[in-house]
Amino acid sequence: MAISNAWPIPAGRLLINGQWVEPEGGQTLPVFDPATGENFTTIARGTAADVDLAVNAARACFESRAWTRMRPMERGRILERVALLIEKHAEELAWLESLDNGKPMAMAKMVDVAVAMDMFRYFAGWATKITGETFALNPLFDDGSDYHAYSLRQPVGVVGAITPWNFPVGQAAQKIAPALATGCTVVLKPSEETSLSTLRLGEILLEAGVPEGAVNIVTGLGAEAGAALVGHPDVRKISFTGSTQTGKAIAAACLHDLKRVTLELGGKSPAIVLADADLNEAIPGVANAIFFNSGQICTAGSRLLIERPVFDAVVEGVAAIADQLKIGPGHDSTTQIGPLVSAKQLEKVSGMVAEGIATGATAMAGGSAVDGAGFFYRPTILTNVRRDQSVVQEEIFGPVVVAMPLDDPDQIKAVANDTHYGLGASLWTNDLRRTHLIAKQIDAGSVWVNCHNVLDAAMPFGGFKQSGWGREFSNEAVRTYTELKSVCVRLPNA
Ligand code: NAD
Repeated sequence: MAISNAWPIPAGRLLINGQWVEPEGGQTLPVFDPATGENFTTIARGTAADVDLAVNAARACFESRAWTRMRPMERGRILERVALLIEKHAEELAWLESLDNGKPMAMAKMVDVAVAMDMFRYFAGWATKITGETFALNPLFDDGSDYHAYSLRQPVGVVGAITPWNFPVGQAAQKIAPALATGCTVVLKPSEETSLSTLRLGEILLEAGVPEGAVNIVTGLGAEAGAALVGHPDVRKISFTGSTQTGKAIAAACLHDLKRVTLELGGKSPAIVLADADLNEAIPGVANAIFFNSGQICTAGSRLLIERPVFDAVVEGVAAIADQLKIGPGHDSTTQIGPLVSAKQLEKVSGMVAEGIATGATAMAGGSAVDGAGFFYRPTILTNVRRDQSVVQEEIFGPVVVAMPLDDPDQIKAVANDTHYGLGASLWTNDLRRTHLIAKQIDAGSVWVNCHNVLDAAMPFGGFKQSGWGREFSNEAVRTYTELKSVCVRLPNA
């Protein structure tokens, strides 16, 4: 499939106020195919001037109430239409995602595109269910009047959404769908590494009937377009997914005008295998927890903590899987593990593993990049690691897991929580008592038992500690796109 055939948007355009426009500065950024390293198209390099136009459009749409005043049932129907159009164009969206990010196309369809569809379908239902409460008051200076007191949940206003490159269209939907369901308008800046599927989603939104200005897309660099969006005085909330480092910079910038901000950040999630686990399930389960999406997932099970009696068996099993996974380009239907997203990411992963090995770790599988074109890295399992090594503490964001034995049951909580992250964790066991005790003790926003990375639009998702602020998905997301107002009416006695 050639890009010009599949994708009618002229390269290098931004979506502002319902129109596909050139960036004010007229500049573009190259887009690379991670499987070959070749530059195959360009995107617009949006800057502060474009962000300003986009925020103005979003604000005008919000204030005109074209979207907010629409009947909730109709808003929901438009979001449902978006879901149907995503379903209709699933193949094309998956193809774009695979081309741009490198992931296997079948996976892009089964995960990224399915998540995008689910988000619109799920939040379409919320458009009609955003309600307040009534209160029976006990006023302090009681003159006997009656009161009618109630709360209103109102859209926060213009939302600035910023997304990373690992699940581009899914993450765009994760932010746009709840924002639109609550009546907010949006300016979205996708990652400069993977903007294509988000631009295609922009076309789908227009086709579904989302009014002009309700969703605007400004592609560009984080330090330019992203920072301008965070700093814009008319943006009321920032919804960010990305690295902890960038998240902290964004939180600091939001302090200036106390913008609302939610952050979905990095992780170093433990996958914990207890001695009683069914290893036939646990071994492929923990291997998939780290190698899925080439390890480029915030909840990757990147620390494998294994009770000593089964340590060797689990390590050998995961190493065997790592050695067998078929590495290749995303468009090859036999590929199980695609390239990393960029040359920069390949350099980061290679450097961290090399440092881990130089400081004492042993590679039981992988441990190096694949020679030749593209950004491929071998699935890797490291043993003989210490808790103070950077491979154990820092997020690698590649197909690399560190395995550590657990000798004492009382050690589990301490080792699992020995990280400044707190996003996910999985526990592999059939012991009901230990399951619930350990699930309570782990500092993580999601704890999976005998599974990993099971996500659902209805289940809250987010991080403890430095993995983030707030939750996405579910009614929790609805809260973060709304302000709560109390209205108190005194009804004096006639
Ligand atoms: P990143 O932080 O480098 O970039 C994310 C986005 O922020 C990009 O769109 C980028 O252009 C923008 N950006 C960068 N600097 C900015 C600034 N100063 N102001 C405003 N915007 C800026 O992250 P990445 O490398 O694209 O993604 C990988 C990271 O994302 C990993 O750490 C991963 O764990 C995290 N992540 C978290 C979740 C989650 O839900 N918790 C999900 C996916 C990825």
